[in-house]
Amino acid sequence: MKLAIMGGTFNPIHIGHLVCAEEAVSRYRLDKALFMPTGFPPHKEILEGASSEHRFRMCTIATEGNPRFEVSRFEIDRRQVSYTVNTIRHFRREMPDAELYFITGADAVLEILEWKDPQELLTMATLIAATRPGYPLDKISGALDVFLRENRVKIIEIPGIGVSSTLIRNRVAEGKSIRYLVLEGVRQFIQEKGLYRKT
Ligand code: NAP
Repeated sequence: MKLAIMGGTFNPIHIGHLVCAEEAVSRYRLDKALFMPTGFPPHKEILEGASSEHRFRMCTIATEGNPRFEVSRFEIDRRQVSYTVNTIRHFRREMPDAELYFITGADAVLEILEWKDPQELLTMATLIAATRPGYPLDKISGALDVFLRENRVKIIEIPGIGVSSTLIRNRVAEGKSIRYLVLEGVRQFIQEKGLYRKT
């Protein structure tokens, strides 16, 4: 079993995240990508515009229909600060024979050495850093050179997609269309719940 945990705030989940998980699944022949919306991020005080339940629900809507995608409530239900190493420890215990991967954005990965127990994390799981077109890859290779050489960090480029959650939130606040930047079900959910609007 090759399991990738796809960690992120997903505020909101957009096509870049989905293309990224799909790319990782096909490139590394993974059995499953488990989307893991952060519950209580260690590095952010408040998440703008959407609750944990909203973020979880948007992930569920976006991933239905892909048999290799699932969403986990683990970090949301844990009601503790979401340290990635604790999440990976949990899955390591639950699935001792699985090959574990952790996918997240390159910006987040750049700070990994400041996360809790990064060495242990990188021993238990291979890290997949997702970049956008135009992202300066040398930033990653500089900071994480040792781990790249040891093949414990891999870099994938999300093909052709420069979208970000910040862009989506800003567009909603400015009254601009987000159609096709997020899945249609997610767009409708954002509209119905009035998320990210300027108050
Ligand atoms: P973030 O600041 O929201 O994201 C950093 C960058 O990565 C953003 O550009 C973001 O783009 C992108 N990104 C995030 N998740 C992605 C994904 N799965 N695929 C592609 N791009 C992605 O960082 P975050 O989302 O809060 O944190 C990312 C993960 O790292 C979470 O699982 C978090 O729990 C973990 N983390 C752990 C620690 C720790 O253990 N101490 C500390 C920090 C982060 P979008 O805005 O478009 O998503």
